[in-house]
Parts: sequence; structure tokens; C-alpha cells
Amino acid sequence: MKIDGEVGITFDDVLLKPKRSRVKSRKEVDTSTFFSRRIKLNIPVVSSPMDTVTEHSMAIALARLGGLGVIHRFTSIEKQVEEVRKVKRAENIIISDPYKITKDATVKEVRKLFEEKGVSGLLVVDNGNKLVGIVTTRDILFQPDDRPVKEVMTPKERLIVASPDVDIEDAKKLLWRYRIEKLPIVDGEWRVRGLITAADIIKKIRYPRAARDRKGRLLVAAAIGIKGDYMERAEKLYEAEVDALVIDIAHGHMERALEVIKELKDSFGDDVDVIGGNIATYEGAKDVIKYGSDAVRVGIGPGSACTTRIVAGVGVPQLTAIMEAYKAAREYNVPVIADGGIRNPGDVVKALAAGASTVMIGRLFAGTDEAPGPVILRNGKRYKMYRGMASFVARLGKEIRMSDIDESEVSEYSYTTEGVEAFVEYKGSVEDIVKRLVAGVRAGMSYLGAFDIDELRLNAEFIRITNASVKESYPHDILLW
Ligand code: 5GP
Repeated sequence: MKIDGEVGITFDDVLLKPKRSRVKSRKEVDTSTFFSRRIKLNIPVVSSPMDTVTEHSMAIALARLGGLGVIHRFTSIEKQVEEVRKVKRAENIIISDPYKITKDATVKEVRKLFEEKGVSGLLVVDNGNKLVGIVTTRDILFQPDDRPVKEVMTPKERLIVASPDVDIEDAKKLLWRYRIEKLPIVDGEWRVRGLITAADIIKKIRYPRAARDRKGRLLVAAAIGIKGDYMERAEKLYEAEVDALVIDIAHGHMERALEVIKELKDSFGDDVDVIGGNIATYEGAKDVIKYGSDAVRVGIGPGSACTTRIVAGVGVPQLTAIMEAYKAAREYNVPVIADGGIRNPGDVVKALAAGASTVMIGRLFAGTDEAPGPVILRNGKRYKMYRGMASFVARLGKEIRMSDIDESEVSEYSYTTEGVEAFVEYKGSVEDIVKRLVAGVRAGMSYLGAFDIDELRLNAEFIRITNASVKESYPHDILLW
């Protein structure tokens, strides 16, 4: 037995000292950062892989704002893969497999497809998948149901098309010059290779700070376990072109978890970033990195729905855990994800100043429109559900078999549950919350004279505070409305 002489600290134990600052406006600071070795974000905010926090709606909203969502794993492989696909398809500049119809189909079939797929145009092809025209809502206006498509479509001769190597700027010029909304992509023999629509380009302009992959699609990560069919899950997610796989387990410094990092890196190389965790020590961070992890996810017990520290007596106060992990991470130039315990924007600033590159958030994002689950009315107030994933696994019981949670994990959890279930107030759109967090980060950077997140960390000087100071920090001695 040995005892660590150091006292662990967390967010409320410290403040950051203000510094002489050259920053004139909070708008001029740069909040871009790295989630993992190869994944760059425009804001340092990501969401937790929990079933009451992150499915495609949350992931799409966060990526549009410049952050990222990690799709939870507490569902079938098919469903999780579909969630990833939905994010990847959300703002596809080039639709690689656009909806098509044959030239001999009828106007009735066109109407049906428009309604079913929610589109306003279809590419018309012959039997060999070669483009022969386009049919849009305008072409079928007032036309009888039984009229063949070939009689109403805009034929090939009058179409503006582009080749597969067209870039977005050229596409924009063509769409504008010919005042069209759809630009089919065809090869030299007129075989359909894709479709660019003005609507998708407009979305891209609407979210100029969105976090995107090389093909212009939104970034998304997904969680996996280390038991059962986790490898099949990882492979299917990889095929769906997920950007990062997050090994989502309570004790990431388990030897088995380290082996899984290596196994995934050996299988997928650098095509997908793999993230190990959770850990809370220097040694833990060093080991996950040595086994190939592309980021370090830090946090044992700080989560709001988590009872690990009470149940198991194990954990490290979160700010100390971040600083310890950062000591190892900086040696290898690997980003740190500070996971759990964030309650307000100031906590994000402190986490970044302590060495994190991003913060991972559960509770603050639960209760938003984008979080899964219905709004519940109780005593005239609106709520949504939030639960620690350990409590969820415990509740599953033995009769439900989920693909990557095996018997031992379920029974282990059912005796000592390390998470709770709760209601959180309904909060509207996640966008407002993210904007408040990012505004706080900008403010913190300005106070510390930092133009980017690296500089924030370099300039940071924490001061320990007392309980009296914590009281002084919150609004006091006034009547709040
Ligand atoms: P929050 O933002 O709510 O404070 O923390 C979210 C984090 O709590 C998640 O990203 C995850 O790491 C952690 N977490 C989620 N569910 C559980 C659980 O049941 N037990 C424990 N120990 N941690 C959990």
C-alpha cells in the first residue's frame, strides 16, 4: 500500500489568473483543436456515447457547429451503423448513389418516388444505368399519371452535367450560370457517377465552421466495447466510413482493453482513428498511447450520472486526471479528451488550460431536442431522461442479449451499478448550449491573452481557492429573479 501525497483537484478547486492580453476582441481567437491525431475540429466540444445523448441528430448538430458526436453502442450493430450513415449522408456534397428511375416508368411512379424519398428530382436512366434525362416536380405538373417519363423529362441533349473530378467551386459556377438546382455527374460514357444539388451546397455555406471529412461530409465517431462481437461491430462501422472508433469502457487501463486498441490499429491502420480509455493517471495515458491510441479519453468517476467513486472507492479528481494524462500525451503529441463533470463554460476553459484538447459532455446535452428520447411532462414542467450507461446495462437483465455485452458484463453490473437514472430539464436546441460554452472558451482565452488553445494552456496559471471563494464566485447577496 502507498499513499499519494498530492491532493487531487477538480474544477471548483481552482480559478485561472487573468493575464496581460493582446486580444482585442473575443472574435479573433481561434477555437480549433484536435479530437484525435487525425481529426481536426473547429470547437473543442464533443458528446458522450450514451443512449440518452448521442444518436444521429446530436452528431449532425454538433458536427455542423464544428464539434463531434460519438454514437453510442447500446444497440444492435445494424442500428448503430445506420446512425453513422445518417450523419455521413446529412450533408453530402456529392450524392454518390442518387435516386433514379427508368425512362419507361410513368408519371405516377415518379410522384410515388418523390413522396417516398422526399426528393424533388430523379435521374432518368436506360437499362445500362446511362443517363438519358432528369425529371423534376416542374416536369410532372398537371401531367396525367400514365404518361411515360421519357415524354416529360428534360432530355440528355438539354442537360448540364459534370465529370467525376468536378470540384465544388466549378459545380457552384455551373449551377449558377445555368440557373439549375441539380448537376448530374457522369463518366465519358454517360454512366451515372453521382449528383450535386444546390440545396446541399447551400447547407455547406450555412454551416461554414462545420467539422468535415475530406469528402465534405460531416465527421462522426462511434463507440464499441471489448467483448462479444465488438470486432464485427468495428468492421461494419469502418465500412460505413466512421471517422473514429472510441473504445467505450469504464476501466480503459485493463490489459484486455489495451490489446483491443492494438488489434483495431493492426486491422484498420490509419484509415480510422482509434481512441482508448477511460483512464485517469499518467501510467494509464502512457499505456493507451503505447498500444496505438490516437487520443486519450480521461475521466474515472467525474460524470454526473456516475457513482464509481462511491461504489468502488476509485477515481481521480478530474482536473488532476487531465493534467496527469496530458503529461504523457504531450510526449507523444496525442490529444486529450476530458470526459465528464463539465457543468458550465468555465469548466471547459479550465479543462483546456489543464491540457485537454476537447471536452466530452453528457448531462449538459441531455434534455435537448437533439438528444434521443421523448419529452416528459411532470407537474407542469418538461423533462427528458438521462442515465449512466452502467445503470442501463444493469437494467437490461439476463433475458436481453445485446450483441457486444456478454453475460459476465451484465451480471457484473447488476450487483454493483456504477451509474444512476435521472430526469433533466428539457432545454430546447443543443445549439444554444454549445454557443454558450464556446463563448465562455473565447472569453477565457481573451482573459489569458491566448489566440489559440495551445496558447491558453501555455499561459494558464491556476490558483487554488477555498470554499469561501467558491461561494464568492457564484452570484451572491442579491435576490435572483
Ligand atoms: P457528464 O457530462 O454527464 O458529467 O459525464 C458524461 C460521462 O460520464 C460519459 O462520457 C461517460 O464517460 C461517463 N458515464 C456515463 N455513464 C456512466 C456510468 O454509468 N458510470 C460511470 N462510471 N460513468 C458513466
